[in-house]
Amino acid sequence: MTDSAQIPSEHVDVIVIGAGPAGTTAAAKLAQSGRSVLVLERRSLPRFHIGESLLPPITAILEELGAYERVLGQGYVLKHGAEFSGGRKGRFGRIPFAGQGPGRHHVTFQVERAHFDKTLADVARDSGATVLQEATVQELLRDGDRVTGVRYERGGRTRTAHAPYVIDAGGRASKVAQTFGLRRGIDNLRMVAAFQHFKGLDEKYNPGVEGDLQIGGHSEGWVWAIPIWSDTISVGAVMPRELLHGVEDREAVFRDHVSRISRITERLTGTVPAGDLKVETDYCYYSDTIAGDGWLMAGDSACFFDPIFSGGVFLAMATGLRAAETVDAALDQPERTAELQLAYSNFYKTGYDVYGRLIYAYYGANYSLRDFLQSAGFDISGDQLGSNKWVARLVSGDFWNPRNVLLRHLRAQSKWDTFAPFEPHWGCPFYEDLNVAEDEAEAAGKPVAVS
Ligand SMILES: Cc1cc2nc3c(=O)[nH]c(=O)nc-3n(C[C@H](O)[C@H](O)[C@H](O)COP(=O)(O)OP(=O)(O)OC[C@H]3O[C@@H](n4cnc5c(N)ncnc54)[C@H](O)[C@@H]3O)c2cc1C
Repeated sequence: MTDSAQIPSEHVDVIVIGAGPAGTTAAAKLAQSGRSVLVLERRSLPRFHIGESLLPPITAILEELGAYERVLGQGYVLKHGAEFSGGRKGRFGRIPFAGQGPGRHHVTFQVERAHFDKTLADVARDSGATVLQEATVQELLRDGDRVTGVRYERGGRTRTAHAPYVIDAGGRASKVAQTFGLRRGIDNLRMVAAFQHFKGLDEKYNPGVEGDLQIGGHSEGWVWAIPIWSDTISVGAVMPRELLHGVEDREAVFRDHVSRISRITERLTGTVPAGDLKVETDYCYYSDTIAGDGWLMAGDSACFFDPIFSGGVFLAMATGLRAAETVDAALDQPERTAELQLAYSNFYKTGYDVYGRLIYAYYGANYSLRDFLQSAGFDISGDQLGSNKWVARLVSGDFWNPRNVLLRHLRAQSKWDTFAPFEPHWGCPFYEDLNVAEDEAEAAGKPVAVS
């Protein structure tokens, strides 16, 4: 036992657990708002992390943090769309982000997460946050029911930090979820992912569009291909967990699944493995409680469904940003705390709920986006799955916009409910002005052109 009176201690406005995209986005925003912020990251940065394909509105978040040019300058691969192949009819189709229509972001990045997360941590630090690496939060400090800080270990020493708010952005290892026993499994999604990086990429072998994410569905799961540098590509095979359970030669299963997607194997021509095959399991879970007395969870700490539509980092950054805005407002107006936290929780759940439904739709149609869209009455023909603007928008992250007819269709399926009933928080955080202008133009009989 350590005598707490002898433990070095400090006080800040906000403690952030974890320097992943959720934590560093929250920290940068709060520091830019003039708050004192302590970020505690248990690993040393840069550190490996899976989750490499991003969604376009991340640009809006980076712009808000004044970090877009800096991120653009890192030379990450530009992603203009996503290609879906395989499925029952073995066809392929593309969703170009440009299909969302004018005024929205049409390009995003594919990143090596170690590099990207370190860049975001540097943004948080340069914004004024203190970012401590190799600092492991061991315990939440409490005064009655209220969380008042954390006890953490760094360099063999135990310390405490106190703050009116702790934002838990600790991802799958969330301290808050653990401490309060909040996490629930998502029984309908028990998938595992096996993945590896490959060097020697030459996009001349890509039968599709340079820089695109490729997703290939087959009878036992799906495969991703994400170019993370001009010469490096990440390839992953996602499957029901029984398929890898107890299997000794996981590489053989991985190779077999990848070999089923001809458009991906074609793109891999001339590449060689770089690093070992890695496996991730148990990543599908949620929590019905997102905020409490003195704390909020952001990003993966409270929920994650599945990587298929590349929403993880986007949702982590979007909720990290909103968590920061919520805490900032609550620090100024403590009498509004309950209302602000409820709005935050509903915002969080709305985003993850819609993303989760899109995933259920894909899995429910046996790993075929086209089959799902056609069964839902969307006129999808040829190789442009994204010719419908609502499809292109939803797949680009349009998770808070009830005008989106695909979103409404997904929300109407009660079989895909995850969270206990909650009041959705509508209003796109990025394109609401455009949405309103579009409504007004349509009401005036002048539909906005969609390219
Ligand atoms: C197989 C797979 C593929 C994926 N592919 C994609 C993809 O292509 N695109 C996409 O957008 N998303 C993808 N994701 C999801 C993505 O990885 C996550 O959604 C994203 O990393 C969430 O960010 P975060 O900041 O919430 O958490 P994390 O990125 O996990 O960051 C949490 C941080 O908290 C730190 N931490 C944890 N506990 C403590 C503690 N006690 N003390 C101090 N620090 C602590 C951790 O070290 C970590 O750095 C994928 C996920 C999986 C499983």
